[in-house]
Amino acid sequence: MTPRGWAVLTLGGLVLALLVASVVLVPWSRPPAPRADQVAALGDLPVDRVAHAREFRAALRPGAYGGLVVGLLVALLLGLTPLGARLVELAGRPFGGHWTARAVLGGLAVLLVADLLTLPFAAWRHSVLTRYGLSTHGWGGWALDLLKSYAVSAVIGAVALLGFYTVTRLAPRWWWAFGAAGAAGLVVLLSFVLPVVVEPVFNRFTPMEQGPLRAELMTMAARDGVPVRDVLVADASRRTKAVNAYVSGLGPTRRVVVYDTLLREATPAEVTSVVAHELGHAKDRDVAVGTLIGALGAALAVVALYLLGSWGPLLRLAGVDSVAEPRAFPLLIALVTVAGLVAAPAQALVSRRVEARADAHALALTRDPATFEAMQRRLAGVNLADPDPPRWEYLWSASHPSTVERMAAARAYAREAGR
Ligand SMILES: [Zn+2]
Repeated sequence: MTPRGWAVLTLGGLVLALLVASVVLVPWSRPPAPRADQVAALGDLPVDRVAHAREFRAALRPGAYGGLVVGLLVALLLGLTPLGARLVELAGRPFGGHWTARAVLGGLAVLLVADLLTLPFAAWRHSVLTRYGLSTHGWGGWALDLLKSYAVSAVIGAVALLGFYTVTRLAPRWWWAFGAAGAAGLVVLLSFVLPVVVEPVFNRFTPMEQGPLRAELMTMAARDGVPVRDVLVADASRRTKAVNAYVSGLGPTRRVVVYDTLLREATPAEVTSVVAHELGHAKDRDVAVGTLIGALGAALAVVALYLLGSWGPLLRLAGVDSVAEPRAFPLLIALVTVAGLVAAPAQALVSRRVEARADAHALALTRDPATFEAMQRRLAGVNLADPDPPRWEYLWSASHPSTVERMAAARAYAREAGR
């Protein structure tokens, strides 16, 4: 069998593995959150607060979708015309067009152009966040964050670009196989190291101070059978008023993180409710499952790009001879950008199901639906979330159930449990 034949076979195997993993590992059946309860919950929220949140979300929209459209257009323009290939050549020229310069500098130049052209939309977002009092960051801090994220992306990008184009040179017929394994490996590696290597670039993390709340959280984790070494507090208040918590990392790097804003804004019982949700993520190994699905998706993407990349008309549009050369990197980015937009609603759906399961876990663990609901109201109030967002936007991008869904889930739980 030819390398191409093996690639088709591998693609089929990866699609099957992704389907099986999704069917088996994603909690498709969600706990009840009847629409009648959602409508009642919405009616219980202060009308002016809801209107204010909706006004804020509407103010964000032009920038968000404008940035999305411009990002897509830039990717298509660079990838489906010879412009991108020329940009890669230009970046490599000071180094005599050496392939490593084209691969790393050319690749980073393509990514930087896309970033710079969407920069005005990011600035728009920051100005809206500031206007509505959600951001506590000045323009200086905002710019510094931006530079830091460029630096982090440049380091990760340079390693990936150099690795990828080394492999395409060493194994011109089989690079897709090594590339797929490498992409999957990179996803797993990033899940491990992000919390200890990248997250500290943006925030300081300190163990939660000793006291009744910490003791209560550790006891709850023990009762839940989730070994947690510590609860970390992030100094989120240096850039935002928004409240949040999350789990990240795998195995030895796994941690539960709460924002300092949450500790300031919420009652201890509400913090307990939030951490119970995060323990649900830890107990169900949501980070590991997400990493596995992400790794399979990354491997599938590499093999699909190899197969698509041998399609003549596409190569002619981009003005390149082979998808495996650094000059074809903009074409890869264009294809990945389109695939990302197509996959967004599916990713959002999976995320919402996982989040709904963590909510159910929090309710079962705390047996306190009233506090859970109070926390959801506070979360939406402080973060200016639309408690019942437009359907199309919800389906397209919502990573969490809406506030009224989460409140309805608490009410349904309360009825079920007789509380
Ligand atoms: Zn969550």
